[in-house]
Amino acid sequence: KAKELGRNRSFHYVRELTDSIHSRMSLEQDLRSALEAHNFMLSYQPQFRVGESVPRRVEALLRWPHPVRGMISPHDFIPLAETSGMIVELGYWILRTACQQFLFWRQQGLMLDKISVNVSPIQISSSFASTVAEIIQHLDFDPRWLELEVTESLMMSGTTEVSQQVCELRAMGVDFAIDDFGTGYSSLSKIKSMPVTVLKIDQSFVRDINDDVNDYEIVRAIVLMAKSLGLTVVAEGVENKEQESTLHRLGCEWVQGYYYAMPMDGEAFYQRYFAELQ
Ligand code: C2E
Ligand code: MG
Ligand code: MG
Ligand code: MG
Repeated sequence: KAKELGRNRSFHYVRELTDSIHSRMSLEQDLRSALEAHNFMLSYQPQFRVGESVPRRVEALLRWPHPVRGMISPHDFIPLAETSGMIVELGYWILRTACQQFLFWRQQGLMLDKISVNVSPIQISSSFASTVAEIIQHLDFDPRWLELEVTESLMMSGTTEVSQQVCELRAMGVDFAIDDFGTGYSSLSKIKSMPVTVLKIDQSFVRDINDDVNDYEIVRAIVLMAKSLGLTVVAEGVENKEQESTLHRLGCEWVQGYYYAMPMDGEAFYQRYFAELQ
């Protein structure tokens, strides 16, 4: 009886394993087709100065409307795009599309200061800076409108390759933000040597800022340090008024989250904010 059960279990295990391999393979094929057909979308989420209803900054977030599986979260396919190498071509599409949208908004009279675009560490190869330069020049896009969001670990890695690409872009006027700040391993003192202008406090610290004293203290320390270094701090994942009040009291000047707006498509963003940004 026990043996039978065991056999059954391993049978299930093997079946689940092959299922997951098949689903990974088909997802990879679907991703490749979507890339060829440019079958992705960008959503846009505004960032506000605390207390203002007019956004000055916006983050572009990738969306993949899958024909069968519905909308797939970037958390579920960015890693696959990275391991398969597709992130490089996809990243090119994301950057070009985000810059085009930003220009289109400006032509329509929607004046924002900056658009931030998430960049995977895999994208930062030897030709990254020249790729960005090419997109910008082709579109006649002011590099000061662009901010690239990278991970803490990328900035920490300190390889010459990465720092050379980052320096080249900084020289052009492109800004860098550290995304999900606080979740990596960088010591606060290392930040001053990083060529970044913005720290985005990870949403995990914002979530319990009023209930968990550790999270509260971490946010307090980040804001204090960032300000003394002249960096801009943006809190991510703000979902209610209480979180906003605490952040404001701690001196965090910029906020982003569902409390203000969900990510939305470019047209919806325009409809919602055009009147206010005239
Ligand atoms: P992220 O860059 O840290 O983006 C913030 C995520 O939090 C987004 O999820 C956003 O929709 C979500 N969010 C915004 N406000 C709130 C809130 O108030 N509460 C909660 N719980 N969540 C909120 P999304 O769009 O699913 O993206 C997930 C992650 O995927 C991003 O995290 C980023 O790391 C990655 N990603 C998204 N777009 C791109 C892209 O174009 N390129 C690359 N390389 N990665 C991307
Ligand atoms: Mg981001
Ligand atoms: Mg983040
Ligand atoms: Mg993230």
